[in-house]
Amino acid sequence: MDIPKSHPRYESLVMRERIIEGYKKGIVALAGLIAHGRGEAFDYIIGEETRGFARKAIRAAAALMLLSKRPVVSVNGNTAVLIPEYLVEYSNLTNIPLEVNLFYRTREREEAIYRFLKSYGAKEVLGVYDETTVLEGLESWRRVVSVKGIYSADTVLVPLEDGDRTEALKRAGKRVIAIDLNPFSRTSIAADITIVDNITRAFPLLIKYTRELREEPVDYLRDIVDSYNNKETLSESIAFIRDRLTALANAPLDFK
Ligand code: ATP
Repeated sequence: MDIPKSHPRYESLVMRERIIEGYKKGIVALAGLIAHGRGEAFDYIIGEETRGFARKAIRAAAALMLLSKRPVVSVNGNTAVLIPEYLVEYSNLTNIPLEVNLFYRTREREEAIYRFLKSYGAKEVLGVYDETTVLEGLESWRRVVSVKGIYSADTVLVPLEDGDRTEALKRAGKRVIAIDLNPFSRTSIAADITIVDNITRAFPLLIKYTRELREEPVDYLRDIVDSYNNKETLSESIAFIRDRLTALANAPLDFK
């Protein structure tokens, strides 16, 4: 579909197209379309902009990933089609591997995501052709993880996660960074760092902060991580939603 750039919802429509195309290519699961819609609704409510609470969380996430011994980025179908160029840029910049990890797991979908990421120049994509094992405490297919990747990771960045797995990763002693537009989800509550923002805006910023912070001494990064409080950040995001909705309720015709 040809979307005119002047359309007020241009970005959002382009993303929808990517998800639909991804579904047709067998990369996105049918349920991924629903998950995307839920994300869009929350994005509408926060005004489709990266807010201060998200910036703070992204900076802490960049620092924590740099400090971690074995960090990994978990990738599902939606993430792969929405931001392949940024996933690959981040992974190649930091040497942090990407790992395909799916709730609706099929061999075809895993391989399709692997090929898709490789076509964007990804160096290391785990979870498909390397050795896998089982992460205890999970019923879904997401329990199958790469031995070299999530299984032995100390920190896992999980854009668009489901709550069960975030909790299982926590029980396995890992630090979890989530990107989730819904601040009320179990994922958002269970994660150590929750970035309440669209992955399409959060990832480019993560790359920018990583470039800046990797020049800084370790103590500086530790200070950022130690002074970060996720409960406070989540509260800020919910208070922001409350205040924005109150302002809009008072002046609905000014809505932009
Ligand atoms: P939980 O199990 O954590 O309570 P859930 O059942 O909502 O959450 P899913 O449906 O698997 O979990 O996850 C989809 C989540 O991803 C939703 O919370 C949605 O808001 C979020 N989401 C969807 N698209 C995006 C996006 N582009 N950027 C950030 N978050 C998104």
